[in-house]
Parts: sequence; C-alpha cells; structure tokens
Amino acid sequence: MKVISLISGGLDSSLATKIILDQGIEVVGLNCVNPFSVCGHNSNCNCVVKRICKKLGIELRVINLSEEFLEILKNPSYGYGSNMNPCIDCRIMILKKAKGLMQEIGANFIVTGEVVGQRPMSQKRPTLRLIEKKAGVEDILVRPLSAKLLEPGKPERLGWVNRDKLFAISGRSRKEQINLAKQFNIDDYLTPAGGCLVTNEGYTRKVKDLIKHNKLSLENIALLKAGRHFRINPKSKLIVGRDEKENQKLLDMAREGDFIFEPIEEIRGPVALGRGEFLDEQIDLSCRIIGRYCDDNDRELRIRVRKYPSNKERIISCTAFKDDDLSFLRV
Ligand code: SF4
Repeated sequence: MKVISLISGGLDSSLATKIILDQGIEVVGLNCVNPFSVCGHNSNCNCVVKRICKKLGIELRVINLSEEFLEILKNPSYGYGSNMNPCIDCRIMILKKAKGLMQEIGANFIVTGEVVGQRPMSQKRPTLRLIEKKAGVEDILVRPLSAKLLEPGKPERLGWVNRDKLFAISGRSRKEQINLAKQFNIDDYLTPAGGCLVTNEGYTRKVKDLIKHNKLSLENIALLKAGRHFRINPKSKLIVGRDEKENQKLLDMAREGDFIFEPIEEIRGPVALGRGEFLDEQIDLSCRIIGRYCDDNDRELRIRVRKYPSNKERIISCTAFKDDDLSFLRV
C-alpha cells in the first residue's frame, strides 16, 4: 500500500503523515510550491519541508505550480480568503496534482492534514466536500486528523487504513495537535499558513499593486521577497534594499533594462533597483528616496545610477526625502 501525503511544512500535514506511517503504509510526500511559497526548493536548501520528510523518513516530490497559480490568483472562481489567498481554487489544483502523481507512481490514495472547521475559508465541512469533488478525489482522500467526523472513503471502507486509529479533531484550537506533536516528537514546523505569503496582509498590498499595474509575473513576484517597495508611477517601481543581504539579492535579480542605484563610496546607504520606465524625473525622485535610507542624509547626497547590464554610470546629486514625503509612494 502506497499513499501520497501533502506536506506543507505545517504541523497538521506532518501529524497526518505520521499517523498513516504508523499504520505501516508507505508514504510519498508531495509539496506543491507556488510563486509565493516561502521556499521554492533549490538543490541547496534545507527548508522545513525537506527536514520534515527527512525526519519522517519519506521521499519528497515537489510540483511547481508557478504560472497556473498566477492564473487562479488573478481571478479565483471561489474568491479570496482574508487576504489574497485563493485557497479553495488552490486546494482543488493541488489535489488534482496529487491525484496525477498518485496515478503516475501507482499509489492508492491521498492523505492531507486538513482539519474540519480549522480555516474559515477552505476547511468548512461543505467546502471540503466541494474541493474533493472538483478535484475528482472524492473517494480516495483520507484526512487522518478529522476522519472520524467525516464519511469513510474507500481506503477506510476497504480497510486499507484502520479508521479506529484515526482522529476526530475539529475547530480552530490547536491543543490536540500540540499534544499529538509532543507524543510524536514533532517540533519543527511552520506556523499555520506560514509557508504561503499571499496570506500575509503586507504582502497582499504589493501583489494588488502588481495586478493593478498589469505587472504580475514570476520575475516581479520574486522581487517582492526583498526590500522596501515604492510605486514611482504606473510604469515604474523602485525597490530599496534593507540590509547587505537584500542589496546583493537586488543586484542578483537585476535584468536587462533595470536601473541600479548605489550611493557613492563615501556614503553608507542601500542599493536600489528600478524596474520600468525611468526618465530624469523618476531617476531624481528615486535618488531622493534612496537618500532617506543613507547615513548622514541631512546634507547633499550623491547617488550612482546605471542601466543594467551597462557599467556606464552617472552621478546624481540630491537631498533626501523625509518620511512624510515618502508615505504616499510606499507600496
Ligand atoms: S495558503 Fe496558499 S498554498 Fe495554502 S491553500 Fe491557500 S493559497 Fe494555497
């Protein structure tokens, strides 16, 4: 018997997987990443999803939802949660992917860490039903944490899983899960929804700004993970690094046609990346924004500007903006 278990990096999916493993069933973990996932899994990362799979001793498969996720983000059939999280559409898509993998590797059913009534949008009982129906996984899905509150599916009816050893957890309290985590010695996990940035209010503002200006692309989303963001005008945006690491990240993410701003050597201050149309007016404005984040900025400042990848630069003299002047530009 082999199953696909959706691993999100959170506690519930780890518990659900452990409950199934303890029944002697082989588990393959599946993590679906979207452009807003905290970790997109490069070969060097040792993120929480990888650590969980290692600790549980299971294989990890990763499916990247990238463009497909952007499509549902722009116009989700079932709307958004409290921020820009299209959770119902997203769960349907993830379960369809899980079903595809299940068929591909000859697994028998799918396991998720969903808990009835835990999340207002996607985990109400009728919504769970809707999601499994739309994903075509109605009779091949087991939710070990809440199974005893739900109709038994095929894996339970046929005795592939022992229903007696499943749970009847519901609601938003995490008390029972925390107790189970202690029992199973599981202590490495993300906070609920902590792995998906579209559930974050500040981040949502930046995503809305990209959609409003018709700039929602994988490259622009990658930039949201660094720096302070300023909307200079509908066609141009400036991102200012907050520390050395972000400065380097912005330099690494520069693409042809972007503008790179750096204070001259004598001034300590951030790197900034301008994307879009930067005429003299936008360049001057950007230098004044960057000036705000330079040390000793109550004097005239000098900022280097170049259009990537060219090394040809010019130096702009400016005075720094004050915080009040900046607030209306901040995304
Ligand atoms: S929190 Fe993010 S990854 Fe999870 S279901 Fe919602 S949109 Fe999808």
